[in-house]
Amino acid sequence: MSGTPLTVTPILVRQDNYIWMLPTLPRAMAAVDPGEADPVIAFLVERGMQLSHILITHHHTDHIGGVEVLRQRYPGCIVVGSAADVHRLPTLDQAVIDGDTVGIGDLRVQVIATPGHTLGHVVYHVADAIFTGDTLFSCGCGRLFEGSAAQMWHSLQRLMALSETCRIFPGHEYTLLNLGFLLELEPENQAILAWLELAQGLIRQGKPTLPVSLAHEKKINPFLRCHLPAMAQKVGLPDQPAEVVFARLREMRNRM
Ligand code: ZN
Ligand code: FE
Repeated sequence: MSGTPLTVTPILVRQDNYIWMLPTLPRAMAAVDPGEADPVIAFLVERGMQLSHILITHHHTDHIGGVEVLRQRYPGCIVVGSAADVHRLPTLDQAVIDGDTVGIGDLRVQVIATPGHTLGHVVYHVADAIFTGDTLFSCGCGRLFEGSAAQMWHSLQRLMALSETCRIFPGHEYTLLNLGFLLELEPENQAILAWLELAQGLIRQGKPTLPVSLAHEKKINPFLRCHLPAMAQKVGLPDQPAEVVFARLREMRNRM
């Protein structure tokens, strides 16, 4: 269900937050997790575009800070977010749950609930793009602020089941930060070393390291490899279930 690649453009705000912009209707775009309004308005004005939708992954300020101002500026804009979080999100025009599909013109936006970072966190799957918010980063995953390790592992598994050619668009540019942890864990992993060199080059040029394909992440992201005996061994928990390995990895990452 990947289809034609979606054209997605990042707006970087607050040092490391990405607002992802995607074309939706003629002369209109959607914004994913607009933590700020002004850069989105400037982006749209420059292109002569309207804002058709706002897609919210979760309630943290760095993901919703711009929603109210954008709604005032674009009154027709439809705000989409998790039904589980209506009490702590800006007013929603569409409150969604796992399995829902939001139709925007020809686009079908699939909602996948990914509890873990927060309990109401959702990700959006559109064409070959997955907007992962603070669930999945390149080389990492979100902190467990509300959910359990088992819940987060289950959420990540749902994403791993999607087509490997899908590209992930996370809420943050954390790639180099996360790579520091990966190098401590697996200093000899050639795929990790190759990605480090590439990612450093991109950052040096002022470019995002994202998106990356799901296939790419499955190879190097330790949080997606908790079910593999080699990873259990690496964290000193041979023969333990994946969620136990995941919990240990997450603790190790928190201590870094
Ligand atoms: Zn967050
Ligand atoms: Fe965040």
